[in-house]
Amino acid sequence: MAPRFLLALAICKLIITVGLNGEPTELLQLCVGGGRLSMERVDVESASLDFGMMSRAEPLAVYHPSSADDVARLVRAAYESSRGFAVSARGHGHSINGQAQAAGGVVLKMSGAGPAAQSRPAPRVAAEERYVDAWGGELWIDVLRSTLERGLAPKSWTDYLYLSVGGTLSNGGISGQAFNHGPQISNVYELDVVTGKGDIVTCSEEKNSQLFHAVLGGLGQFGIITRARIALEPAPQRVRWIRVLYSNFSSFTRDQEYLTSLHGEPASKKFDYVEGFVIVDEGLINNWRSSFFSPRNPVKISSLGTDGGVLYCLEVTKNYDESKADTVDQEVEYLLKDLDFIPTSVFTTDIPYVDFLDRVHKAESKLRANNLWDVPHPWLNLFVPRSRIADFDRGVFKGILGDKASGPILIYPMNKNKWDQRSSVVTPEEDVFYLVALLRSATVDSSGDASRRLEHLADQNRRILKFCVDEGIEVKQYLPHYSTREEWAGHFGDDKWARFYQNKMEFDPKQILSTGQRIFKPEF
Ligand code: FAD
Repeated sequence: MAPRFLLALAICKLIITVGLNGEPTELLQLCVGGGRLSMERVDVESASLDFGMMSRAEPLAVYHPSSADDVARLVRAAYESSRGFAVSARGHGHSINGQAQAAGGVVLKMSGAGPAAQSRPAPRVAAEERYVDAWGGELWIDVLRSTLERGLAPKSWTDYLYLSVGGTLSNGGISGQAFNHGPQISNVYELDVVTGKGDIVTCSEEKNSQLFHAVLGGLGQFGIITRARIALEPAPQRVRWIRVLYSNFSSFTRDQEYLTSLHGEPASKKFDYVEGFVIVDEGLINNWRSSFFSPRNPVKISSLGTDGGVLYCLEVTKNYDESKADTVDQEVEYLLKDLDFIPTSVFTTDIPYVDFLDRVHKAESKLRANNLWDVPHPWLNLFVPRSRIADFDRGVFKGILGDKASGPILIYPMNKNKWDQRSSVVTPEEDVFYLVALLRSATVDSSGDASRRLEHLADQNRRILKFCVDEGIEVKQYLPHYSTREEWAGHFGDDKWARFYQNKMEFDPKQILSTGQRIFKPEF
């Protein structure tokens, strides 16, 4: 027998010995494929934590699959064993609250390098049909690199590309293109999914559509995405990137809503990306996404005059090809001319398209160099109905946050008609809603105590949620985190919860998958 097989066999025996609730035969099957089952400390440790660094749960083992068949073998073993055991797919582990953990079970490591990864299917671009087939654990940066080789790129993005395809499609996947193209889950043609019974099912709008819609935004509850067919468009070469400032919140939101209402216009008459952020403190230079405001491009905030100490920054881009460079100025000017920003506050830069898409990675490198990346992240992401965004501004940006945000605060509107209501994701009732993302880092406070800072920020998050309840602002959490069944049911609302529950019973009846989301509580 080959040494690798013997090693895998030994690991399986170990698992059986320590009692992973599985019957030997099913677990032994795991060793036959190209995957690797590991109980090594380094694997278990890294699967116990995530980007949030706030909750820890150890799996018994980590499985590195080399194919969809490997994934199916693992899930089938869990499903067919007498009591079952948790299996949570983990993409890049960039969740905040342990969503990709599998306490006492097996974490299925879909992303990352290693021998098993070498056999995973590489992204396959169909240039004429304009789609790419990507492995579920593929990082978006690698999807982009592959499609660019054929002059194409996905249409809808997240701000950060070191996230996995399966991870963002299990949530939504949003950035400044969402007003126009919808979230990433609106830009998928087909999926291969391993259900909670261990079946490999191809699904799309036309085929097995119930599973298709359930899985998109489905928080990993109904199956593991092993392949996604993602819509592509011709990749532009360059990006004109503009930021303008506002001291008046209603002017800021009026302009954002105007620009995002242009989604039906021809490309030359709308921006390609519309986002924005709130500046409550610390100046623009300290904001980790603001490398844009370089020393060559200084901002004198004190000279701008703020509304209750708060400034708002609208961020837009226009994509273009070098051959059309002469018209981009006119198009930008046309779009900016009716906006009501502070006239002296126009900041423009021009960079290659890839550099724009990969902009947050630059900030990551800087934070890593200063040991500020691997710290607790008590993030709060909310969808706020448009009709209440001014109340939110008053109560949160100019109220609860005080003068220290501890990280970027993103704010931008999206159009509900770009979100397929058949998917599992939850959005507010109104036609337009805002993403408000409080992306905070709990670094040491003035007394040198990081845990105090974390507690302070977590407390602020609770106060923000309570403020919304008290004021009747019907926000929905994006990347939701709840711990009771009642809270989850409230998050989904009656109809959607009934559908979510029914789908769970159908596609993962033993409640094996993504237990780190804490939606269902299996008895193992
Ligand atoms: P993981 O954390 O590994 O998993 C998340 C959930 O999905 C878990 O429940 C897991 O079990 C499940 N899952 C993972 N892979 C699969 C699969 N193949 N099949 C089924 N279920 C699976 N989000 C945005 O929308 N827009 C942004 O701009 C954005 N920027 C971010 C920037 C940073 C720095 C970070 C840390 C996060 C950001 N996010 C953003 C949030 C991010 O999209 C989600 O946290 C996403 O889940 C991360 O992907 P991941 O691969 O790390 O998923």
